[in-house]
Amino acid sequence: MISFDDVSKRWGDNEVLRSLNFDVRSGEKVSIIGPSGSGKTTILRILMTLETPDTGLVTVNGDTLWDVKPGSRPKETKQMRETRRHVGMVFQQFNLFPHMTALENVIEAPIRVLKLGKDEARQRSTDLLEMVGLSKHLDHKPPQLSGGQQQRVAIARALAMRPKVMLFDEPTSALDPELIGEVLNVIRELAVTTDMTMLMVTHEMRFAEEISDRVVMFDHGSVVEQGPPGEIFKAPKEERTKSFLHAVL
Ligand code: ATP
Repeated sequence: MISFDDVSKRWGDNEVLRSLNFDVRSGEKVSIIGPSGSGKTTILRILMTLETPDTGLVTVNGDTLWDVKPGSRPKETKQMRETRRHVGMVFQQFNLFPHMTALENVIEAPIRVLKLGKDEARQRSTDLLEMVGLSKHLDHKPPQLSGGQQQRVAIARALAMRPKVMLFDEPTSALDPELIGEVLNVIRELAVTTDMTMLMVTHEMRFAEEISDRVVMFDHGSVVEQGPPGEIFKAPKEERTKSFLHAVL
């Protein structure tokens, strides 16, 4: 479903991704863990075409998203936009439109991008907001909502595009501790009840252990170690994984 083939990215001297080879199967739930600055977010941003790899091939569902040869400067293509349409992302900082209500935030892309009729888009968006527990808040704007509620609107907004792949970039890291659970509950529900491919960067180790099919330990732009959560959390093989988990658990 997702494939990174020999993908590299650097910022000046900082090699953020080093010839990365990394695949996610269709329907798989994968968590990426690792120290700050190791390149985890960059992987997701490349999949959203918010960053450009320097070299390498990235495909989603067999369709090419990036095919960058050394020294070339890729341009955004129709195929890229088409492929990206199947990918939804939830950011650390919610990224909602502050002047729009919860419903308007969710309804916007289905109307503008998918060209759905107003009634159908409204129904779909209302159903999604209900699913994330916000049916009483359809007309509230982000400043009137808690962080946890805003993040649930952001999840509904991403789902409104019916993505095949959902990316979560530390979705609870900007939340007060008492609001984390309500967001994790929604993500857990999606992991258990949908066949979407899910790729999550997280510092919530227990949650990653609970919902993931596979956990990937990342450091310095490369995969250090990966495997089923029981293996990575209970019996990591690599020293780097052991020391990271010792520091965070
Ligand atoms: P964190 O857990 O802190 O979010 P991360 O593993 O997700 O870290 P990335 O956000 O992918 O790491 O960043 C990898 C490296 O790339 C970091 O050193 C970061 O400072 C650098 N970087 C990211 N974006 C830019 C940019 N626009 N310009 C320069 N450097 C950048």
